Amino acid sequence: MKPFPQDDVPPRMRDATPAPLLRLHADIDTRVATIREAHPDWQCARGCATCCRQLADIPRLTAAEWALLKEGLAALPPQRLEEIRGKVARLAAAQSRPIVCPMLDEMEGACPVYAQRPVACRTYGFYVQRELGLYCGDIEARVGGGELADVVWGNHDAVDHALGTLGEARPLTEWFADDIKLQAE
Ligand code: SF4
Repeated sequence: MKPFPQDDVPPRMRDATPAPLLRLHADIDTRVATIREAHPDWQCARGCATCCRQLADIPRLTAAEWALLKEGLAALPPQRLEEIRGKVARLAAAQSRPIVCPMLDEMEGACPVYAQRPVACRTYGFYVQRELGLYCGDIEARVGGGELADVVWGNHDAVDHALGTLGEARPLTEWFADDIKLQAE
């Protein structure tokens, strides 16, 4: 399978993205690249999307992450965007967990807003969070089987701390609802 590209924010959007968020992206990219270089067969790749299909809850984003994500959403074909809006609306009313990310292209197993995805998505499978683990059962199974002992995992609690400096994080469903309200005004 083709690995995810080591992309960052598309150049056109870099100027509008706050420096602390870009720094966080760069730090995560470095950690991810280091792990991938030592393990060229790393299983996170286009077509997997296991983590996107099993989110513990509705993703929470800071305003800066939402602004970036909106750029990616705005570039999607209108019909695709409407589908996503419909899924988000249904998700807002749903109680069951875990959830499938409403943005995931389930046929392709790919993220349609990959370059603009939230910070948490960048860390899945490479960062560990206290009491929440690695966010990937498949990788955790490898660790449990004694593999990957050499990996220096990223610290997700530190990422959350850095995100906290960017302001309040709100559920994706609320960002979408506000956006629809704004468009109606
Ligand atoms: S935004 Fe993209 S990478 Fe993140 S959970 Fe959704 S589909 Fe997966």
